[in-house]
Amino acid sequence: MNRYVTYLIMGPPGGGKGTQGKILGTVPRFFHCACGDVFRQLDTRTPIGKKFIDYSSKGELVPDDLTVELWHQSIDAQVNAARFKPDIDVLILDGIPRNVSQAELMAGMIDVKQVFQLSCANRQELVRRLRKRALKENRLDDASETVIQYRLKLYEEETKPVLDYFKGLVTKIDAGQPPVKVCYDILGKIWETRNGSLTFNA
Ligand code: ADP
Repeated sequence: MNRYVTYLIMGPPGGGKGTQGKILGTVPRFFHCACGDVFRQLDTRTPIGKKFIDYSSKGELVPDDLTVELWHQSIDAQVNAARFKPDIDVLILDGIPRNVSQAELMAGMIDVKQVFQLSCANRQELVRRLRKRALKENRLDDASETVIQYRLKLYEEETKPVLDYFKGLVTKIDAGQPPVKVCYDILGKIWETRNGSLTFNA
């Protein structure tokens, strides 16, 4: 199997991964996949759906094997439905891999071209965004201060080492800027490093 040409969006909860992923997903030949959305689309009455609620409501990560398998199934389904065409599309991933073990499990499936680190030193700003999201999107995992703090800690301890794993491919972007500028920075870098790809004439 050819590995999917992939751009990763990484950052703390509230850092704007989902916002940027959604915008980028509207660009022709870009396909956006957010791991959190894959989980949220599960039927919560199924054993795996229940498991997700169980972990996410505490701010915990879902176990790696299960996560990567579910993500793989979801991507396969998108390929089969011809929504994602890996021979001509690039994959924009947000929320996965979320630790080094997931990155290792996915190494045979994704060919990572760039990693965008949405960085925000202002923790209070992240918390403010998450609180707002809790109200607007009814997200259980954004509702409690303890869970928010735990997820921010988990990001520092578990997810940040993924940046080292992809050393040399990481572009740090100030996530405190307006969304349009964050998007401009990401697209600028993708364009700059395109290396003969992204011709869009297929
Ligand atoms: P956020 O970036 O704000 O944490 P997400 O929508 O990416 O939000 O994730 C919500 C929850 O879904 C996580 O807290 C976790 O429980 C679960 N989840 C999402 N992606 C992964 C992943 N790659 N590995 C394990 N759990 C995940």
